[in-house]
Amino acid sequence: MPKYIFVTGGVISSLGKGIACASIGRILEARGLKVTLMKLDPYINVDPGTMNPYQHGEVYVTEDGAETDLDLGHYERFTNAKITKFNNVTTGQVYNAVISKERRGDYLGKTIQVIPHITDEIKGRIRKVAEVSSAEIVIVEIGGTVGDIESLPFLEAARQFRLDAGYDNTLYVHLTLVPYIKVAGEIKTKPTQHSVGTLREIGIQPDILICRTEKPLTNEVKEKISLFCNIRKEAVIEARDVDSIYQVPLVFKGQILDEIILSHFKLICKFSDLKDWEAAVVERTLNPKNRTRIAFVGKYIGLQDAYKSVYEALAHAGIANNCRVEIEKVDSEDIERHGPAGLLKDVSGILVPGGFGYRGIEGKIKAIKFARENKIPFLGLCLGMQCAVIEFSRNVCGLNGANSTEFKAKTRHPVISLLEEQEGISDLGGTMRLGAYPCRIGKKTLAYKVYGKGLVQERHRHRYEFNNKYKKKLEKKDMVFSGIYPRKNLVEIIELKGHPYFIAVQFHPEFKSKPDRPHPLFGEFIKAALERDRA
Ligand code: GLN
Repeated sequence: MPKYIFVTGGVISSLGKGIACASIGRILEARGLKVTLMKLDPYINVDPGTMNPYQHGEVYVTEDGAETDLDLGHYERFTNAKITKFNNVTTGQVYNAVISKERRGDYLGKTIQVIPHITDEIKGRIRKVAEVSSAEIVIVEIGGTVGDIESLPFLEAARQFRLDAGYDNTLYVHLTLVPYIKVAGEIKTKPTQHSVGTLREIGIQPDILICRTEKPLTNEVKEKISLFCNIRKEAVIEARDVDSIYQVPLVFKGQILDEIILSHFKLICKFSDLKDWEAAVVERTLNPKNRTRIAFVGKYIGLQDAYKSVYEALAHAGIANNCRVEIEKVDSEDIERHGPAGLLKDVSGILVPGGFGYRGIEGKIKAIKFARENKIPFLGLCLGMQCAVIEFSRNVCGLNGANSTEFKAKTRHPVISLLEEQEGISDLGGTMRLGAYPCRIGKKTLAYKVYGKGLVQERHRHRYEFNNKYKKKLEKKDMVFSGIYPRKNLVEIIELKGHPYFIAVQFHPEFKSKPDRPHPLFGEFIKAALERDRA
């Protein structure tokens, strides 16, 4: 029988519930347990695939091609859980399924209601994750903040779960804010009391409270929270602000949160001190020996969450190279206005991430030209690769007006274009090339050197592809097509001869990078940047 941990959030959003869940996963995995994590999202979209990054942040793509919430990225970075399309459930998916069943007549004349039909569907999806993962611990993050109308069916399903699965197999964790009020010089527990009160009205008494706070929680404050919220004092966990998210498992471990959870579940597990995580990840994040500066040329740079996995992958590459990667966020439209030289002059590497739509494209192209001509290490991701192809076609191969048909349908030289199979598609949701595909890498290429092998699997999320009609022309001028998806002969990796590190990929390597296992494309990129610094 798997054990289920439900994690809710109170007071305000953005308290780091995803990281708290991932960290709980990490400390339990360290005890030898097989864990998986899932997120229940209260919005009505079927998935976040069609949402604007300003609304939602990054869309994280799983190996099996689901477009999911970025918290699933934290789950994969902190743990070894294999996250699939089942691990992100939205209100939209739940209602979609229930309404389809109703139309088929599966409910045999019944009135379809939130309880039990919607809640049964939710519980079924939680059990499904347990089943396909065969995990011993299933951590279920409930999106939103307690008190929201939208999340009520999920909370109700979580409440019912204890009835079905039993007390010893279910645990409720509530993440809350204990604010410090400067003028009073005090930290305040009232919002937490109210939030737990609201949960109790729904029928959930949390077993563990994780308190986000700027200041330490004194013994007195913990006692007060314990008394008013009806939670054992040891189970009131302090989660003070830290410099790196990767410290959070250590913060929890330091308060024996793993033991508290195991004893609730009546589980006895091997000992772990998390020293390996501390040495390999935390120490190196906090005390690096070197530093290097990378320009990140995007259009959603004002939003911390829009390129989450890419920022994390850069940090992982820093860990591997014992250096702090300072990210200079450059708005590609600023490059359009002011040119690249001033904005990119002090950087040792240039990264162009993925994206959609024409806005900011010409700035990205200028940044890539600058990287190519000045032999600055360059890494292009997805749209970044497409822009590198456009730049090279226009400025090296003399293909004037070369473009992607995404930006100009009737361009003279469609060097990036749609495959026939994409041309007829009218639905935007879930119809891109999504998920993992194999990529064969040519020997004696930079890509081969980077990966150290000839066959890799990488995750995709795009509609447009390199147009093979232009391959010969570009090859003649020393562009190398080093990675190919064999079954359809699609270009996956490009690079340039005679440049220290110029590589761009049609896929998203950032989704597979972990703090203790950085993705080689990022690791070698930062290494090349450091070499440039030394030269
Ligand atoms: N807009 C491009 C495409 O659809 C690139 C997508 C991306 O960068 N994820 O092909």
